[in-house]
Amino acid sequence: MERVISSEQSNYDEGFELSLRPQTLSQYIGQETVKDNLSIFIEAAKGRSESLDHVLLYGPPGLGKTTLATVIANEMGVNVKMTSGPAIERPGDLAAVVSSLEPGDVLFIDEIHRLNRAIEEVLYPAMEDFCLDIVVGKGPSAKSIRLDLPPFTLIGATTRAGSLSAPLRDRFGVPLRLEYYDVKPLQDIVTRSARLFDVDIDHIAAEEIARRSRGTPRIANRLLRRVRDYAQVRGDGNITVQIAKEALEMLQVDAHGLDHIDHKLIVGMIERFRGGPVGIDTLSASIGEESVTIEDVYEPYLLQIGFIQRTPRGRVATRLAYDHFGYAMPEEI
Ligand code: ADP
Repeated sequence: MERVISSEQSNYDEGFELSLRPQTLSQYIGQETVKDNLSIFIEAAKGRSESLDHVLLYGPPGLGKTTLATVIANEMGVNVKMTSGPAIERPGDLAAVVSSLEPGDVLFIDEIHRLNRAIEEVLYPAMEDFCLDIVVGKGPSAKSIRLDLPPFTLIGATTRAGSLSAPLRDRFGVPLRLEYYDVKPLQDIVTRSARLFDVDIDHIAAEEIARRSRGTPRIANRLLRRVRDYAQVRGDGNITVQIAKEALEMLQVDAHGLDHIDHKLIVGMIERFRGGPVGIDTLSASIGEESVTIEDVYEPYLLQIGFIQRTPRGRVATRLAYDHFGYAMPEEI
């Protein structure tokens, strides 16, 4: 079964997300520090009629990195071309995208930490001097051609800033970290999306959905869609507090936004490893989830709400986690 609170995008989300995506900084809810910084940089660049400095957006999936890239392009009044690290396999692939850019355009590279090193090398002069050196041909007849590019803004997005090579990271003038959202901005996102869906929602129902969304707009919008279905079938289409609670209960998302996988992860740590420390690979093998998925998708939120801690010897379940799942903490030996 698809995980309703996964922060990763599913095919099902795609169409809905396009319709819900904010277009301007004022429609982009929350992330106040990021927005304050960006609005100054954007205004300054526009005042000088220059392209915006390269921007690196990092943070867990579903927090609005792709959305923000589109918003930045809209605010700058330029086009955005979207691609991703794994989609650029050869220098020629990169040359094809960058050579189609108009002056000032935004090039968005999602999962930029997955670019291979050969492409990175080609990207450096493109970012610094707006030119591209590519080698055509093979063997003795191979020659290097220099392509001049229009000034453009590269916006890179990553869930793993630590996996980015230092030379690449250093070439971004504006690194911005997106944080998990508090309940209030998530509640505003739910209310805005309900309005776009033309559904009536009680403000406490919106808060209830927001609380269980793991600080993540993508999850908030997904829960809203499921609750909307429930309201349509079991109620009169309006989302009341009662309807929201029933629907969320049926989806088995608890008051902290945790589901059966979080449950398996933490209860596994408590029951099999006395709460840890346990290494990520051991944990991964014991619950049958890949370690990268645990690290990128499940764990960041559990760390954020203080249910687990990372130590040099592995992951440890905290007292909060023991209490939440109804276990007694083992005595210190
Ligand atoms: P990421 O690229 O970080 O994985 P996205 O930009 O695809 O995340 O965001 C997922 C969805 O969440 C978007 O389609 C959008 O509807 C919603 N969203 C994200 N951030 C915001 C925000 N700040 N305000 C309103 N909606 C948002």
